[in-house]
Amino acid sequence: MKPNVIDEVVKNNLCVGCGTCAGICPQKILRIQDNEYGEYIPSEVQVCDSHCGLCLEVCPFGNNENETQIGAKIYGSIEGMKYLPETGYYLDSYVGYSNEFRQSSASGGMATWILTKLLKENIVDYVICPTPQKNPEKLFSFEILSDENSIKAASGSAYYPVEISEVIQKIQEIPGRYAITGLPCFIKALRLAAQKNRKLRERIAFTIGLVCGQMKSKNYTKYIAALSGSINSNEIISVHYRGKSSEKTANDYYYQFINEDGSQHKIFWSEGVSEAWLNRWLTPNACNYCDDVFAELADITFMDAWLPEYSKDSMGTNLVLARSPEVLNIIQKGIEKAEINVSKISVAKVIQSQAGVIELKRKQLSYRLYLAEQKGQKVPEKRVSASKEIGILKKREIKLKEIMQEESKQHFLDNCQNQPVDVKTFRTRMNPCIRQIYQLKLLRKFTFPMQAVKKILK
Ligand SMILES: Cc1cc2nc3c(=O)[nH]c(=O)nc-3n(C[C@H](O)[C@H](O)[C@H](O)COP(=O)(O)OP(=O)(O)OC[C@H]3O[C@@H](n4cnc5c(N)ncnc54)[C@H](O)[C@@H]3O)c2cc1C
Ligand code: SF4
Ligand code: SF4
Repeated sequence: MKPNVIDEVVKNNLCVGCGTCAGICPQKILRIQDNEYGEYIPSEVQVCDSHCGLCLEVCPFGNNENETQIGAKIYGSIEGMKYLPETGYYLDSYVGYSNEFRQSSASGGMATWILTKLLKENIVDYVICPTPQKNPEKLFSFEILSDENSIKAASGSAYYPVEISEVIQKIQEIPGRYAITGLPCFIKALRLAAQKNRKLRERIAFTIGLVCGQMKSKNYTKYIAALSGSINSNEIISVHYRGKSSEKTANDYYYQFINEDGSQHKIFWSEGVSEAWLNRWLTPNACNYCDDVFAELADITFMDAWLPEYSKDSMGTNLVLARSPEVLNIIQKGIEKAEINVSKISVAKVIQSQAGVIELKRKQLSYRLYLAEQKGQKVPEKRVSASKEIGILKKREIKLKEIMQEESKQHFLDNCQNQPVDVKTFRTRMNPCIRQIYQLKLLRKFTFPMQAVKKILK
């Protein structure tokens, strides 16, 4: 009898809610549902009597084969392929944007451009990505699209739970070539599933990855909506997470909410979104044990160009890492035909732009693994090992953020289930930790110059 995801992953609070286990289960025993925190998890709709263990083999937090090992099988033998521990395999790196899709997209619109291109040139029959639903209970879901307008309507970022159980079942039912977008853990799950399932292997022709620092729960969107002034955040029918404003820099984007009654609210990153995002409020626990920054198993990965020379441009700019020769070719043709405003950039710059996420998923992860070991918590095998070798202020910051991550979920349940969401009480409950985080920031301001002086004197 092989173990399954419920015992090994869900009960250990390591599920990110991707839905791959439910999509692949031959007996359709697993169903993805919301938990009390507004995160997706699978549950058994009937008792599993086969115990085939397939669900665990496709789970990004259940199968210990890592991104480097899987990446070597997919990309290792391609001519011209390079490898760096931070990025995984890559052929080339680019910076730029698509004039056509930039305005409505998250950053430079390159993800929407490539998806549209793949469909227009009949390289794929279908594109799969999260699509707005106008349903307060489910604002986004993965859908199978076959026209360019729908792909454009799906552009932008979904900082919201989405899952792929249904689309995995549909890919197995409907023949064709598919391109699918995904966060690093989703792409890993798709690669693991494709290793086990011939139809998925043959039909998923392109994987389009997004760099990712963390996912957020449904409750996160309700909280930010309430913070923006929306009276009833249970009645939101639409959210746009990456609004662009010409008076602001690219990283001070805004969220825009539309309620069922037509009322609209807007809030900028600097008006309270950053506090909840950077302190990891309402983030699934699984994200604490993730070491893939650049969606290493995707044929092409897109991210924001978080570099001083690009962030000033409020319209947004992409950085791109290409791994498949076919997508590299599409990009090069797009440049030659001036369809996109894109040029090559060094991979060192790409790494520099994601320095914060790299630290989070490598150095800080080592310490989180150490903390989990101390508490006797089960954690997945990672490419970094557990270590307490990290500065004392950083240790405190990591611990505080872990506390906030957990407490925010409970405080939301206690104070924000009724309408209107009681933002004031929620923030009062979070206040002791926020205060300590600000004190740490101040301390760092003073100790950093002192350390620099000491180094120079040495
Ligand atoms: C949860 C999350 C965290 C992120 N964290 C970072 C980060 O730390 N650093 C960074 O540089 N970039 C991050 N990104 C990526 C960044 O926000 C942009 O998505 C990326 O730069 C592509 O921009 P674009 O303009 O080319 O995309 P667009 O042209 O807007 O197209 C984006 C495509 O991705 C699809 N999509 C949106 N959300 C999701 C999702 N949750 N899962 C799967 N597909 C999705 C859309 O449907 C669309 O097809 C994150 C994205 C998400 C969703
Ligand atoms: S992470 Fe995905 S595959 Fe693993 S248990 Fe959760 S939903 Fe299933
Ligand atoms: S941080 Fe990792 S586990 Fe969390 S959503 Fe992003 S890729 Fe998945």
